[in-house]
Amino acid sequence: MIGLEVHVHLVNLRTKLFCSCSSDYRGKPPNTNICPICTGMPGTLPSLNRKAVEEALKIAISLGVTPYAKSYFFRKSYFYPDLPKNFQITQYDKAGGYPLAHDGTLELSNGKRVRIERIHLEEDPGRIYYEGERSGARYSLIDYNRSGIAMVEIVSSPDMSSPGEAREFLEKLIQTLNDLGMRVQDFEGSIRCDVNVSYGGGERVEVKNVSGSSQVEKVVLYEVLRQKTLYDRGAKVKRETRAWDEKRRITLASRSKEVEAEYRYMPEPDLPALSLDTSIIAKVRESMGGTYNERVNELVSSGINPEIAKRLARDVVLYSVYRNASSNEQLRTRLASLLVNEVAYVIKNGSVKLPQDTKGLLEIADKYDTISDHSHVVELVKLWIAGGHIEVNEGKSKINIEDAVKEIIGENRDKLQVLDDKRKMELLMGQLVKKYGSANKKQFAAALLKELKL
Ligand SMILES: [Zn+2]
Repeated sequence: MIGLEVHVHLVNLRTKLFCSCSSDYRGKPPNTNICPICTGMPGTLPSLNRKAVEEALKIAISLGVTPYAKSYFFRKSYFYPDLPKNFQITQYDKAGGYPLAHDGTLELSNGKRVRIERIHLEEDPGRIYYEGERSGARYSLIDYNRSGIAMVEIVSSPDMSSPGEAREFLEKLIQTLNDLGMRVQDFEGSIRCDVNVSYGGGERVEVKNVSGSSQVEKVVLYEVLRQKTLYDRGAKVKRETRAWDEKRRITLASRSKEVEAEYRYMPEPDLPALSLDTSIIAKVRESMGGTYNERVNELVSSGINPEIAKRLARDVVLYSVYRNASSNEQLRTRLASLLVNEVAYVIKNGSVKLPQDTKGLLEIADKYDTISDHSHVVELVKLWIAGGHIEVNEGKSKINIEDAVKEIIGENRDKLQVLDDKRKMELLMGQLVKKYGSANKKQFAAALLKELKL
């Protein structure tokens, strides 16, 4: 039985969870991104970041996890120098507590629906560094820049039963976050997993702080083998916490598992209950157009081609740009394909903030069908993102389909001699689309067939 607890930074926030320190803590000199609140000084009071709640709700809605109308913050005590307060503010689902949201599912490609038990908000602790190897270090160094960064913990039920399923679960989860515009892969250390494995009805072993889906797969594989070996020999698996050694690809006992009581969970008296009335949830839901299926349906019913609709609905950032730029039906169709083909292409390699003002984008969309030079569209999209003045140059971009096809055949004459007909078409179409964009795909295909006498 395999279950995952996934800790994810809410990477789109500007500030920490309970104070106004910047959330951009990476690469800063140690202990410069801190304040009395996130270093837990006596007499300070945390105040909850509203945007963090909204971002967490987006994740909950996407995963079909139901928010509680009222949830609470708790103090989770443990003595470790990365937590200056000696407790972490988190949410708890027992002792009268409720997490942010509960009971959803994530479906794997084999049709298995992995239950998601709960999602809760919590603060990240600081970081501990050692000079040289941890075991030989004479002292620890602590950097609190990360202390108080907002994160959610997403807890699955132990429904997975193979390393591949665990890997896919995490991949799908990261994809879901991506679709929400939360590009965790762009931020080092923004996603960490605790992997729970138990074999043959034995005790549960938790492997802490595993990063990335391929590491999760390796951890599960190793743990299953280790526990199976013990099981086959009739030895008992100990309930414990283990650490993953990436280099040696093994797990190592780190400490015997705390029992829950040791955390001494107690309600956080400095924060009131978090009340989510239906209007807040409705507002967040509305801002993202509901679930993926709801977005697809809305797009298709407004006349968008189903394939384009699916691609546009996948990416909540592009989808919201589309919705902000309300327009007539003619332009809507062009805008949708401009977004999924060109804008998606421009922003795919990094976090780019798209402008609120969509006037320039609509101008490009208006002329999109007449610009056949792909690179010109890309230029214009980049200009729009940079806030520049859009001037569509149609004249420059008119291309002659036949000339373009002849030219590409000429350039590839040597390669064509050794390819069969199907490969020839693939090669030439690929190059044409790369050079001129996909707007003229059909005309290119027709001209190619004619020119190659296929
Ligand atoms: Zn702070």
